[in-house]
Amino acid sequence: MGNLTFGIVKPDAVRAGHTGNIIQRINEAGFKLRAMKTLHMSQRGAEGFYAVHRERPFFAGLTEFMSSAPCVVMVLEKEGAVKAWRDLMGATDPAKADEGTLRKDFGGSLGENAVHGSDSDENAAIEIAYFFSQLELV
Ligand code: GDP
Repeated sequence: MGNLTFGIVKPDAVRAGHTGNIIQRINEAGFKLRAMKTLHMSQRGAEGFYAVHRERPFFAGLTEFMSSAPCVVMVLEKEGAVKAWRDLMGATDPAKADEGTLRKDFGGSLGENAVHGSDSDENAAIEIAYFFSQLELV
């Protein structure tokens, strides 16, 4: 069980001005922010990030959305970080997310659901390395 995971405040939540609230919730839940930056992904950058979903019917819409506006990418540290962050995010579909989760409070739809989180330690390492160099991890 690793202590690091990778998260994104997606373009819908950044656009709606929820970044500060989401970071506050991350702090309150006991995560340390090891790295964070705002960036605007290109379509190709988003396609590379979501390559595992290439064959899915929502791939084009997902990568178009993720490259539509700036997002905030971050590295979070906590014991059992992958599960802890997914628990705080809530279910993929905000309509099915539990009370007190970020997607319940800030997600608008299945496609535009406010936050991303790695689904395994292995993918966390891959996703962190996709966006951050060793130098950027404090
Ligand atoms: P996550 O790990 O909870 O983010 O969910 P997945 O890995 O299954 O999907 C990745 C992302 O693709 C989700 O966060 C959604 O933004 C999007 N997505 C997943 N399923 C659908 C779908 O059926 N329709 C649309 N439009 N987007 C979807």
